[in-house]
Order: sequence, then structure tokens, then C-alpha cells
Amino acid sequence: MRLRNITGSREAVAKNRFVITEPEKLKGSWGSYFGNDNPIHLEIGTGKGKFLMDLAGSNPDINYVGIEKYSSVLLRALEKRSETELDNLYFIRFDAEYLANIFAKDEIDRIYLNFSDPWPKERHAKRRLTSRHFLSKYNQCLKEEGEIIFKTDNRTLFDFSLEETRAAKWKVRNISYDLHKSEFCADNIMTEYEERFVSEGKPIHMVRIYR
Ligand code: SAM
Repeated sequence: MRLRNITGSREAVAKNRFVITEPEKLKGSWGSYFGNDNPIHLEIGTGKGKFLMDLAGSNPDINYVGIEKYSSVLLRALEKRSETELDNLYFIRFDAEYLANIFAKDEIDRIYLNFSDPWPKERHAKRRLTSRHFLSKYNQCLKEEGEIIFKTDNRTLFDFSLEETRAAKWKVRNISYDLHKSEFCADNIMTEYEERFVSEGKPIHMVRIYR
């Protein structure tokens, strides 16, 4: 999602009380930031934030962190965030490439990758958030029993992701090529992109990735 750059968005994001501006300082001590030992779930490429806001509202015993690269996009999430009373959801404007700089080994319980950018050109394959390159980053901070949940409408990206997980020696379960018609849909929360694709009648693909 690349919105037009919004002038002043970087500054507005930096001073928002729901944004963590120096996440490197929390590496290894996220529990103390949240004030509890609850599991930490990330969404990488959080976009306008609806997904995490819905989840955080229904799961007060889980701490959520939304990571988004672009402040113009994050600003939209923060507008919605300010209307809620949640104390278990924070955001970071950050490139997931450097994830291991902000989370220590075993600090994360689950990672959501929702409708990640497909980067269709082969020379950009490394930028896909399900590439083996990124799996190695997740490997550094995801708990041994943790998992990645990936959803996309893009079959090419989905197939690529399954190949990459195999190559990186991760395992897969609950594969669905049409999530909304599958048994796995019962507790599904829709993202902004998902709502649009479902309204267009596109099937959603989903997989849980673990080690
Ligand atoms: N997850 C949302 C949804 O499903 O509605 C947004 C999907 S949008 C296609 C992908 C988002 O991932 C964009 O907002 C983009 O800026 C963000 N993104 C892409 N690469 C990223 C990275 N390396 N680190 C953090 N965010 C990233």
C-alpha cells in the first residue's frame, strides 16, 4: 500500500502516544514495556491497522505490535487507534528488514503477514516478506513453538511462499486456497485488503508456517 506521501506524517507519527519511537531500546524487555508477560503478536505491514485493532479488542491477554514501513500509511491506523481504549496495541514505523535489531531471541509468539506486497519482479524476490531472507529474520526472534500466519489473494506469491518455507526447512499446516469457504474461517478477522478482495469475489489463500 503506497499512499501519496502526506506532508508532516513522519513528525505526526513520531509524537503519537501509540507509537514506539525507539524500539531498539526495548529489545529483550518488551514485557516490561507492556507491564506483563503476555504473549507478543506482530503484524508486519500493518497498513491501516483494522486487523490488529479488532484482534486487540477481543484478546486483552495478548500484546500486539503493528509494524509499518510508511508513516503516511501508519497515520491512518493511528487515527483509528485514538478512538479506542486498548492498552495492548502499539505501532512502530519500521522496516521489517531490521526486525532482529528490536526483538530478542524467543521474544515473539506469532507473526501475521497479511496481503504482503507481491514484488512481482524476480530481482525483488528478497523483499517479499515470505522469502527465505525474511524467514531467517523471523527465525531470530520467533519462539520455537511460534508461528507465522500468512494470507494473500495472490496465488503466485502464495506458491512462492510455500516453496520458500520448504527451502528454509520450515513446515506448513492448515493450507487453504479459499479461506472463506474453508473450516479455518471461523475465527478469521478480515483486513482492509481482504474486505476489498472478498467483495470482488477473489479467493483468499492462507497458511500457517512453523518450525
Ligand atoms: N496488511 C494490510 C491489509 O491486509 O490490509 C496492508 C496490506 S499492504 C498491501 C502491505 C503493507 O506492508 C504496506 O502498507 C507496506 O507499506 C507494508 N510493508 C511492505 N514491506 C514492509 C516492510 N519491509 N516492513 C514494514 N512494512 C512493510
